[in-house]
Amino acid sequence: MPNQIVTQRDVIRYTAGRVVAAAGITAIVTIIFLISDLGTDLHATVEVGAVVKASLVVALGVSTTLSGAMAYRSARLMRQLTSTRAELMRMSRTDPLTGLLNRRGFDDAAAAVLAEAADAGQRVVALMCDIDRFKAINDHYGHNIGDRVLAEIGGILRDFAAPRGMLIARHGGEEFAGLMVGVSDAQANDYAMTLCRMCATDVPCDGRLVPVTMSFGVAAYAGGELPALMRRADLALYRAKDLGRNCVVQLDGSEGVPAAATTPSGGVRETEIAGDNRLVAGDL
Ligand code: GH3
Ligand code: MG
Ligand code: MG
Repeated sequence: MPNQIVTQRDVIRYTAGRVVAAAGITAIVTIIFLISDLGTDLHATVEVGAVVKASLVVALGVSTTLSGAMAYRSARLMRQLTSTRAELMRMSRTDPLTGLLNRRGFDDAAAAVLAEAADAGQRVVALMCDIDRFKAINDHYGHNIGDRVLAEIGGILRDFAAPRGMLIARHGGEEFAGLMVGVSDAQANDYAMTLCRMCATDVPCDGRLVPVTMSFGVAAYAGGELPALMRRADLALYRAKDLGRNCVVQLDGSEGVPAAATTPSGGVRETEIAGDNRLVAGDL
């Protein structure tokens, strides 16, 4: 059985078995055919032409049948291998809890999207978001309910992202990442605000409502590779946490400068930070 072939010794044993089987089949078929065609008298005189003809028929018949069967079998195995490999590839890039891309899947897909968008001169905006005080949710309601919350939030993000062509992934733990192409800063901020509002929800679990909020960091691509962009979005996310959570912080073009922080409630106040960089903070 091919699926029991594990070691090199198994390979050799399997190959030897097949060779012996093929030789046996060839010998038996040859004997049967020659006997039926030329008779059983070993001392009979036969024409050379008849022997050549009989040998040709046997050789062609046996070799085409055996090689055809082996080629069909190996083609089927290769097809199985190809689909198994594709499935493994998909699994290695998918988060089983939420069904979203995992970090590896995101990094691969996002790097490709970023390169394509850069070639086409399109704007790219990254998003990092993280469930607020998730450890407290686990501690209070249990890990299983924590998982249900993760799956629910993953579903909200997926349903929002899919029709907008937004790449979304579970980046690790209770953190999610997104990538938007061809959007303005205002539109990206608007998307993040809408998501912030949608994720500020009570998740029903086992007859209880688990209150959830999320913080969001948004950053536009400003050159470099994907990790640089995600670091900037992460920086904005940290700022959103610092500002009290359940809000969106958007980084402007210059590295590490939060341009704006807004809450889903919409209320805003202005604060001056870091020289002339303006921070608009909401009712936190
Ligand atoms: P903050 O608002 O600053 O993000 O606080 P936090 O509590 O959300 O962050 P912290 O990093 O302290 O805790 C994250 C927790 O997420 C700790 C870890 O056990 C939990 N976590 C990570 N992955 C999973 C998971 O797959 N399922 C569950 N239930 N919990 C997870
Ligand atoms: Mg968190
Ligand atoms: Mg976290």
